[in-house]
Amino acid sequence: MFELTPEMTKRLVKAAMTARGNAYAPYSRYNVGAALLGEDDVIYPGANVENAAYPQGACAETSAISHMVLAGPRRYKAAAVIGSGPDFCTPCGGCRQRLFEFGDASTPIILCKADGSHVVQTLGELLPMAFGPSELPDNMKPILEAYQARRPDVRQA
Ligand SMILES: [Zn+2]
Repeated sequence: MFELTPEMTKRLVKAAMTARGNAYAPYSRYNVGAALLGEDDVIYPGANVENAAYPQGACAETSAISHMVLAGPRRYKAAAVIGSGPDFCTPCGGCRQRLFEFGDASTPIILCKADGSHVVQTLGELLPMAFGPSELPDNMKPILEAYQARRPDVRQA
């Protein structure tokens, strides 16, 4: 289990807060920022990106995951999510599942209020009895492992 230090917590909250400033949320007007600490110790931010066809928008956690996967890492150590309301911002159901794909039940998730105050919960607390890659049939596992082992570095492309 990753030990989340107070300093790293602060860095992730700050990165999520900065990302929130780049949210494109004219329809909900609920700006959200997220930040993942990749297995490479790089912080990958994301923000919600909406469009006129409301259900087609992307959550901040989803865009952060895309950001990380495009850069190469397939795992993250911790995440932060911050909204723009007075309550703690928690990942939606779909994002809890997406986060589980690249984390595990022990992964710390920092849930922030708009002002940056926060609580930390594990992904297992947010998504108990999760359905994940380990539930897949054995014949899927080599394919999954090949994808998880891939580390394409698009920055060198
Ligand atoms: Zn979501």
